[in-house]
Formats: sequence, C-alpha cells, structure tokens
Amino acid sequence: MRRGANMFGLLAHAALILTLAFGFALWRSAPLRAEGAEGGHGAARGRQNPWDADAALAVLKAGNERYATGEHVHPKKDQSDRDLLSGGQAPLAAILSCADSRAPTELLFDQGLGDLFTVRAAGATPGVDQLGSLEYAVTHLGVPLIVVLSHTKCGAVGAALSGETEPGALGELLKELDPIAQAVASLPDERKASEAVILTAKIFSEELVQKSPVLAQYVAANKLKIVAAVYDIDSGKVSFLEEN
Ligand SMILES: [Zn+2]
Repeated sequence: MRRGANMFGLLAHAALILTLAFGFALWRSAPLRAEGAEGGHGAARGRQNPWDADAALAVLKAGNERYATGEHVHPKKDQSDRDLLSGGQAPLAAILSCADSRAPTELLFDQGLGDLFTVRAAGATPGVDQLGSLEYAVTHLGVPLIVVLSHTKCGAVGAALSGETEPGALGELLKELDPIAQAVASLPDERKASEAVILTAKIFSEELVQKSPVLAQYVAANKLKIVAAVYDIDSGKVSFLEEN
C-alpha cells in the first residue's frame, strides 16, 4: 500500500516537473509561435494560441516569484523580440488590473513583449471598455486565462469605501465599486480596506461572466479560466485567490 502511495507521489511529482518544463519551453518560444497568429486586425478568431490556462498560470506564478525575490530577468524586450512579434500576438493571459503606477503588470509578473494582454482601469473596474478589450483577447487572440488583479492600498477602493462622490467620469467609474463597499459595510473599520481589496478581485471576476455572455460562453466551454488575485505592493507578491 505504502509502495503504491510512493509510486503515485513519484508520478505526480514527475507530472508536475514536466508541466513546468513544458510551460517554460512554451513561454520562451512564444514569440516564434505567435508569428502570423493574428494575421492582421480582426482576422482569424483565436487560432494558433498554443497556451492553456494551467500552463499560463504556472508561468505567471513563476514570474511573480522571480519579481518578488529580486531574481527577475526582464524577458523579451529587444529588437529581436519585436521582429518575432511583428506578424501577430498570442499572449498567454489577459490581466484586468488597476491603473496604479505601483502595480505595473508586466513587471510584477516578470513578462515581456507579447506575453500579456493588459487591461487597466482605476480599481480594476470592469466597465464596458474593459469588457470589450477582454472579449477581444479571448475571441480574437485565443487567450485561455484572465486574471482579475486587485492590489493592496488601492486608492479607488479607498475612495469607494469613504462614500465620497466625485464629479465627471471618475464619479461614474467609482459607481462600479459600489458592490465592494456594500459587501464590507458591516465589517469592523479596521478590516474593511483589506477585505475590500480581496472582494474587488473576487466580485469583479464573477462580474466578468455576469456582464459578458461572450466570456460566459467560453468559460462554460472550458476554453477560458478566470482567476482572482491580489497584488501586495509592499512585498511584491501576488496571491491567487480562486479559480473558476
Ligand atoms: Zn488601485
């Protein structure tokens, strides 16, 4: 029995190593594979993207580990990379995140040109422009993974919690955060900010599917995974919260 369990553990370990090795090889060769994938604006829908969600997630986790520990490699930023990508793109993931200058997406995942389809707005709010951009990434570029990334000490979330109103378009944007403020309304004050940041990622992950029938269709068909995560601007670490 114990021998069987050991064998199983060994096999699981070997499978994990193979997955990580495959993901790394895929990531290094992504520009080559991407060439011609898009074939011009609005051409083929989602063809030729070699990524699957689990491999993409493993690459993001490994990249954030490098970034948070100071071992970042700042990949794919040279002329040779621009040359390889000139024919098209096949990003491994789309990231919906805040516009905060302390949360630059490619840096904190240690990714380069062609790796991430980044969609940013204050508070990581999924307004119509953000939803449309994410739908493009999924339906035209074949992106298999969306990460909804909130962050600690988010000014937009703080403004929403304060209940203060803002004029103009900013006021409209902050309304997107009303569900977050309502969700933490009954919590003690000292817990509100930290819980609100976590709920931002979770609630907006769910909203993507609720607001976009297109994204919902891809999730239902197992062609798209949406994952909530929080970036800690002090430690540099990204915590992945849930997968659905
Ligand atoms: Zn923010």
